[in-house]
Amino acid sequence: MEEKIWLSSPHMGGGEQKYVQEAFDTNWVAPLGPNVNGFENDLENYIKENTKVACLASGTSALHLALILAGVSYGDEVICQSMTFSASANPIVYQGGVPIFVDSEKETWNMCPDALKKAIEDRIAKGKKPKAIIVVHLYGMPAKIDKIKEIANHYDIKLIEDAAEALGSTFKGQKCGTFGDFGVLSFNGNKIITTSGGGALVCKTEENKQKAIFLATQARDNAPHYQHSEIGYNYRMSNITAGIGRGQMEVLDKHIQLRRNNNSFYRELFKNIDGIDLFIEPTSDYFSNHWLSSILIDQNKVGFSREDLRLAMLEDNIESRPLWKPMHLQPIFKNCKFYGNNVSEILFDNGLCLPSGSNLSDKDRERIKESVLKLL
Ligand SMILES: *Cc1c(COP(=O)(O)O)cnc(C)c1O
Repeated sequence: MEEKIWLSSPHMGGGEQKYVQEAFDTNWVAPLGPNVNGFENDLENYIKENTKVACLASGTSALHLALILAGVSYGDEVICQSMTFSASANPIVYQGGVPIFVDSEKETWNMCPDALKKAIEDRIAKGKKPKAIIVVHLYGMPAKIDKIKEIANHYDIKLIEDAAEALGSTFKGQKCGTFGDFGVLSFNGNKIITTSGGGALVCKTEENKQKAIFLATQARDNAPHYQHSEIGYNYRMSNITAGIGRGQMEVLDKHIQLRRNNNSFYRELFKNIDGIDLFIEPTSDYFSNHWLSSILIDQNKVGFSREDLRLAMLEDNIESRPLWKPMHLQPIFKNCKFYGNNVSEILFDNGLCLPSGSNLSDKDRERIKESVLKLL
């Protein structure tokens, strides 16, 4: 059996160990230190817009702190894109909030502005204005963020951007994660860059960044002993993992280009195949990091389903994966409200994510091509 081709695996650039060694040499082996500050600076300089970044243990913890800073508390309703990874929605429940799910639209696969508007108006009519909106940039594709932001502003609702999959993606030249009141990044093992595990909260003000760090480090009041006036969390990033992050920042743009090259490879592979549509940017306003290249399969045209293709590729030791199963279809969220039609459901039924790592070789791409053509 030939070696496994993964959907998206870690890809080190070579500079990471230097920063990790520095941490050991200076004994900064703790959840604070020069690498944490350095990684935050690197991220602020990269995404720009005068943002202030707090590095944390995970994207999930960043989402949790975003909700706290947005003022979400027990019983509050929070609108969340249904088509996403469960980590977008779980922190709403950590906070005692109630998720309200909203459908996607077909162009970006992300939150549908019309469904969002309907959801807000209906919630207000029922007597409760949602406290926050969580929009996601799936697979690196920017959501219709200008429209979403306009709606959030109009109703004066805090906007949280889950950009866990979209570091480096832009809408009209502005980086994802910088549009909302808060942005969330993830550096988990399979993301566009990885620190093995980690995340960051993107804030608009230094005050919010410092509040996030305060909450992430057990909410210690200013006193010589341990004194607490608020509930704290242990959510800060380690100086060791931040070292990996600093090294990864050196190759981020290069790795985005490699992922975009994978997308071009798939575009070529599927261009003459009626019934397989590659997920691409709808207009030149959108720039996707193409974290994962994905396709929609029309079974009536090609004669096989996304599951048939997944299994056929697996036979050749190639990993692929269905799209995120929408949250409103998940057993744990089955009693939650949902606004929309069935766009996300259709995407889930017909979509497949293909190997997309920045470390795919020409040989890997050749094997993928053969595997797909075999089934066709
Ligand atoms: C990965 C991911 C998260 C969670 O990030 P972690 O760092 O794994 O906690 C949240 N939302 C989306 C859309 C993700 O893909």
